[in-house]
Amino acid sequence: MAYDDNNVFAKILRGEIPCTRLYEDDFALAFPDIRPQAPVHILVIPKAPYICAADFNANAPAGEIAGFYRAVAKVAKDAGVEESGYRLIANVGPDSHQEVPHFHVHILAGRKLGTMLVNPL
Ligand code: AMP
Repeated sequence: MAYDDNNVFAKILRGEIPCTRLYEDDFALAFPDIRPQAPVHILVIPKAPYICAADFNANAPAGEIAGFYRAVAKVAKDAGVEESGYRLIANVGPDSHQEVPHFHVHILAGRKLGTMLVNPL
C-alpha cells in the first residue's frame, strides 16, 4: 500500500489544517486529539511519511526511530503525566480501527484508564 498524501495528518504537517502544536522537532509533531478520550489525549506523529507503526518500525532510519520515540517520552513528561502514568497506543491496520493512515502514537492519561480493551476476550 502506498502512502496517501491527502490524509489529515499529512495536511496538518503541510499547514493546510490547523492544530495546536504542543511540541515539534526535526522528527516529530505533537498536538491534542480532536476527539479526546481521556483528560490528556495527545497525538505524536513523525514528520516523515509512514503509513503505520509497522511501516515506520521496519523502514525508518534508526535515527528517525530514536528521535521519534524520544519525542513521545518528552511530550508525556511535558504534559506532567510521567509519574501518574500514561498509555501509549499505536493502531495498525483494519482490526485495530486505524483511521488515519499516517503513523501516530496516542498518549492517554489524566485518570485511571482501566483495562486495556473495551471488549477483552
Ligand atoms: P486512529 O484511529 O488511531 O487512526 O486515530 C486517529 C485519531 O486522529 C482519532 O483519535 C481522531 O480523533 C484524531 N483526529 C482526526 N482528525 C484530527 C485533527 N484534525 N486534529 C486532531 N486529531 C484528529
